[in-house]
Amino acid sequence: MIRMAILGAGGLGKGMAKMVTQRPGFTCVAMADSQGYCYETGGLSVDQVLPLETVATYPNGGMSSDQGILELLQAHGHDIDVIFMALPNFPVSFFADTVKQIATQTPFKGVMVDALKRTTAVEKLLSEGDLLKSAGILYITGAGATPGFLTTVAAVAAQSFVEVQSVNIHFGVGVANWETYRATIREDFLHLDGFDADKVAAMSDADVEAELEKRNGLLELVEMEHADDIILELAGICPRDRVTVGGLVDTRNAKKPVSTTVTVTGTTLSGAVGSHQFTVSDATTMVDNVCGPALGFLKRGVELFEIGQTGIITSADIMPKGAFAVESQQARQPAAKAIAAAAAV
Ligand code: NAD
Repeated sequence: MIRMAILGAGGLGKGMAKMVTQRPGFTCVAMADSQGYCYETGGLSVDQVLPLETVATYPNGGMSSDQGILELLQAHGHDIDVIFMALPNFPVSFFADTVKQIATQTPFKGVMVDALKRTTAVEKLLSEGDLLKSAGILYITGAGATPGFLTTVAAVAAQSFVEVQSVNIHFGVGVANWETYRATIREDFLHLDGFDADKVAAMSDADVEAELEKRNGLLELVEMEHADDIILELAGICPRDRVTVGGLVDTRNAKKPVSTTVTVTGTTLSGAVGSHQFTVSDATTMVDNVCGPALGFLKRGVELFEIGQTGIITSADIMPKGAFAVESQQARQPAAKAIAAAAAV
């Protein structure tokens, strides 16, 4: 069993806790939020976690703290294999600062993934590669839906072309109420005309509610600062200015307002110009498309960690493995061992 800690216990953190129960090979042993943390060696009871306002009140092992992440990993870092970061990204350096603290002040060694969205946040993390390496951590950034799932779809689709002219990601998200995903919706506000990080940080929940009311609960997002651009550039797919991300978010209706698509346009070997388009199923939710891929990237990350990889990589540097109950009759060495054996030869 891969022992997971989930940092952040909001919409996506709890969604991941629920998803883990449906995927073999993982058990969620710890969660942290802004008021504390909980840890249970044999795995948390998800039924008990889901209704809690804060995981600090978890009946068996909940602890109150305003430094929940550090205290959890200082006390139990040795007994955790992987971490899913489901935290708000305010300010934009919050993830990089948190990761630095984990690397320098806790004994955790293992694999971390995030579902970060902004390019500048990913850039700050990328500069911590040496620190992560020396701390014995493998960190996979941009491993949610976008960036993550959709970015890697684009990276595969691009392979048909001799040159990629554009990558366009357009997402549709529907959530029944914005309070379930406060950080996600607040971060979306950053991309609206007239808003910036300081303004959004100063907004109360009532201010957010009032803004949503003005817009009938709909947020139309264009030309977003999204790390799909730097991730595809680093993966050698295309320069970042050819990548555009936008979408429509309905904060009052779980049904998606539009389908999510990834369109990759490129020039073929014969000189023709064509586009591949991938459409995400409307039956899938934000939790399906963020937490599912994050689990797949974690599983791949564990294999890489086992053969000694540490530092920081992006989702497009690797492809997710399936985290499903699939049995194969084909006997073979686990991939990690096979790679290590090949390297030794
Ligand atoms: P949320 O607001 O529902 O939950 C955030 C959680 O973090 C809460 O439990 C809160 O208590 C906790 N928290 C806040 N500060 C903390 C601290 N200092 N220490 C410990 N815990 C703290 O957030 P959400 O809507 O679930 O979003 C989580 C993240 O996922 C956001 O950064 C969002 O932008 C990102 N996201 C990414 C994608 C993608 O596809 N890449 C999609 C959606 C959301």
